[in-house]
Amino acid sequence: MAETILVKLGELTLKGGNREGFERILRRNMLAALRSVSPGFKLESRAGRIYIHCTSEEAAEKAEQALSRLAGIAGWARTRKTGKTVDEVTAACVAEGKKLLASGIQSFKVEARRTDKSFPLNSYEICKIAGDVIRTQAPELRVDVKNPEAVISVEIREKAYIYGAGKKGRRGLPTGSAGRGLLLLSGGIDSPVAGCLIAGRGMGLDAVYFHTPPYTSPQALEKTVRLAEITGSYAMGIHLYIVNFTGVQKRIAEKSPVEWSTVLLRMAMMEAASIIARKTKAKCLITGESLSQVASQTIENLSCTESRSLFPVLRPLIGMDKETITALAKEFGTYETSILPFADCCVLFSPAHPVLRGQVDEAAALYAALGLHSREVPHIQDITGLIYDALKTAEVRKCGYYLPAYDAAPKCQILEQVQLP
Ligand code: ATP
Ligand code: MG
Repeated sequence: MAETILVKLGELTLKGGNREGFERILRRNMLAALRSVSPGFKLESRAGRIYIHCTSEEAAEKAEQALSRLAGIAGWARTRKTGKTVDEVTAACVAEGKKLLASGIQSFKVEARRTDKSFPLNSYEICKIAGDVIRTQAPELRVDVKNPEAVISVEIREKAYIYGAGKKGRRGLPTGSAGRGLLLLSGGIDSPVAGCLIAGRGMGLDAVYFHTPPYTSPQALEKTVRLAEITGSYAMGIHLYIVNFTGVQKRIAEKSPVEWSTVLLRMAMMEAASIIARKTKAKCLITGESLSQVASQTIENLSCTESRSLFPVLRPLIGMDKETITALAKEFGTYETSILPFADCCVLFSPAHPVLRGQVDEAAALYAALGLHSREVPHIQDITGLIYDALKTAEVRKCGYYLPAYDAAPKCQILEQVQLP
């Protein structure tokens, strides 16, 4: 049987003259997300709502899965669409009431809106009559107008729409309405969460992962690809740039005081990410850093790190503790992948006693010294040269354009070997 889902829009309803632009992006995202799970959906926009017409119950279930990851919607509800007669409307209300009862709900109220004034009952009368009929046919349900467990809504428009308890959406703004950013994605818990959150504020994403073969394993790479796949499914798809940072990391290990190695590595990542961001037209870099979570994330060390970035660095998790971030990772479905035990490059090279309050001047001097000539190796390449070399062999994968079930295998596709610089 054909099904209709009524979608209520989120924060974009607060927008003024530019609301239409936000709505257009939301509809485009919605259609792409829906079509990635099943063909044959039709969208209809009316009076600040979007109706999704589904060809079957199965399609409606898939649509709900897709909606759960879509930014910019306040919520949605499966809706009964009927003709505009009192009998049809009350019959649909009774069916909705019985459904609530079956799900354990005991008290309800009816709310009605009538934009078609030719309907014979006004809003108050619709509520009264529908409430009475529901009570007679489902006597276990109690009316509670002040504090009901569920609301049955009736909307009389070009058709009558009747719906009960709906589901909450991700809210926020439609992905793509706030420009593009480049996410520094590691295999940890934090950065995928940062990506999912910022995509929910409207930012389109690409991502970069730095790995260090053979010190990091192919499984560590596959794990990050999987995280990109999940993050991408919240961000309408991302391109993941995979960069071999072994040369850079070895240079840092050889030529700098060991306590500085993590901060210097982060500086090199910022420099490399900035070069990619220029190519992808990103307007900012995004990291999963949280203030003082580890030594490299004190405010002083964050200042050193971002001194090599050409773009503003957004850190959506900066004020969150690990427990909050972990809860979000579970909600987004990234947690189980993040905790797989394949070590990231940073873990392998991290010093026992890292610098805690690095100064930007000292960091800059140490960074410059990474490329200084020495008697033994007279033509040593500077660090920026090494970064360009690494980027020349970067690989790009297209991740998350489909909305996979959490347990599905990654569906990344290798696009090209890019010549980045
Ligand atoms: P995460 O859980 O995201 O790995 P973390 O708490 O382990 O974060 P760090 O390892 O210090 O913190 O990394 C800080 C941030 O730097 C990460 O959130 C990520 O944005 C970026 N980053 C770290 N390692 C990499 C990497 N190998 N590739 C890309 N970005 C990275
Ligand atoms: Mg990490």
